Amino acid sequence: MKNIPFCLKPFNELSYSTDGTRPCCIWEGEKFNGQIEEYNSSKYLKRIKKSMYSYDMNILKNTCRNCIENEKNRLYSPRLTPNNFKIFEYWPSNICNLKCIMCNSSSSNLIEEEEISLGILKPHNKTLTDITKFDFTDYNIIKIFGGEPTASIHTFTQLKSIIDRGYAKNMKIAYTTNATSYNKIWYNIANQFVERDVGISVDGTGKVFEYIRQNAKWSAVEKNIFKIIEDAEDYKISIVLQATSFLLADKWIDFFFQFPIKNIGLYQLYDVPGRLTAIPNDIKNTIVNRLERKNNSLSNKVIDILNNTTHDAEELKKYKEYILMLDARRGTNIYNVDPIFQDILTRV
Ligand code: SF4
Ligand code: SF4
Repeated sequence: MKNIPFCLKPFNELSYSTDGTRPCCIWEGEKFNGQIEEYNSSKYLKRIKKSMYSYDMNILKNTCRNCIENEKNRLYSPRLTPNNFKIFEYWPSNICNLKCIMCNSSSSNLIEEEEISLGILKPHNKTLTDITKFDFTDYNIIKIFGGEPTASIHTFTQLKSIIDRGYAKNMKIAYTTNATSYNKIWYNIANQFVERDVGISVDGTGKVFEYIRQNAKWSAVEKNIFKIIEDAEDYKISIVLQATSFLLADKWIDFFFQFPIKNIGLYQLYDVPGRLTAIPNDIKNTIVNRLERKNNSLSNKVIDILNNTTHDAEELKKYKEYILMLDARRGTNIYNVDPIFQDILTRV
């Protein structure tokens, strides 16, 4: 046993979604399926805390694979960014108004409905989260993730229960939004909390943005980004490191130069094919050359990431299969976004 655990998240945080509760949102181990009120005193959590103190890598190499890999690739690792706050991570439902290409049915009801209509997913009873009886006394921050919080009545009701019980006066709300529907109801809810910290998910701009974040309109999102930032105490623009957008990084990255580099977060793609490793080396070098001419701290950061990425032919093959499958399913066409996709996808 060591004095400092491998990770502090299981001691300070929890991540609650319709699938269950776990220490953090990138935890890959099993989830706790009891009532949320029982999580903090559960045997499940005691076992995890024990493995954190004993650095039991037989367990942690699987459950904490994402942090371990990110650290190797010098990407953001939640494990290495501890804080003194008690944080409740909350995934209220999968209600969302978009069908982003890197998302899934657990996070978007539109993708869920699409899969049910195609017979890939069986119709099922929806599990709803419920925080209306949870004691938030010790918690400093509630983080809300998607679906899309600003588009869900269920989320509004759950957050109102925190406000009505008086917790919001002492809590910060941190939420992630796709910036498509910054509405009055959400504005009024968010403003009952002591502070607002917003993560705005944006992948590229214009045509590639609309291909990735399907159903969103770039012109509306662009306007909302500035309104949201103005109303928040802090914000981060989150960009997923994925081949679809980064193949065209030199065409859209300038838009992001107007924000301080500390407010831009670059995050690994999880769960679906299309990581940067799908980009063939010659194309990667061309992108790097174009980005070098921009001479900006964000483009330099991207250059660094691209230079540390090794091409994986298998990832490209999986990416092609995945993207063409989505195009066939949704009637979209990646080749209309830019000719570069014809070039790389015909290589496999
Ligand atoms: S090491 Fe990473 S995955 Fe594991 S609990 Fe900590 S933050 Fe979560
Ligand atoms: S906005 Fe977020 S939750 Fe909705 S489909 Fe896109 S990635 Fe998924």
